Amino acid sequence: MDENRAKAEALSVEDRTGLDSYDFGRNDFIVVDTSICESCSTKPCLYVCPAKVYKLDSEGKFIYNTEGCMELGACVIVCRHIGKGAIRWSYPEGGKGIAYHYG
Ligand code: SF4
Repeated sequence: MDENRAKAEALSVEDRTGLDSYDFGRNDFIVVDTSICESCSTKPCLYVCPAKVYKLDSEGKFIYNTEGCMELGACVIVCRHIGKGAIRWSYPEGGKGIAYHYG
């Protein structure tokens, strides 16, 4: 086993994602119409996003923050109201965005 692989296997998922770096030109590459989300009964995006872009605040209000987005697109796949325009998602422009350091 090479040294880098041994180091990678010793890290938790959170440790690994913490080593990723981000360079966002704009922060609006994901735009969510939260007025639609308020009527979404199951909110699957809360559970599939490993970066926790989608959250409920302390008062239970649906919020989102794209700063840690890993560009998986899982939220778009599971969104129950994508057809209504709940999420408008695109990659950060100009090759910006996340740089993975461990897989
Ligand atoms: S699944 Fe789509 S509509 Fe439902 S809360 Fe998440 S982003 Fe909003």
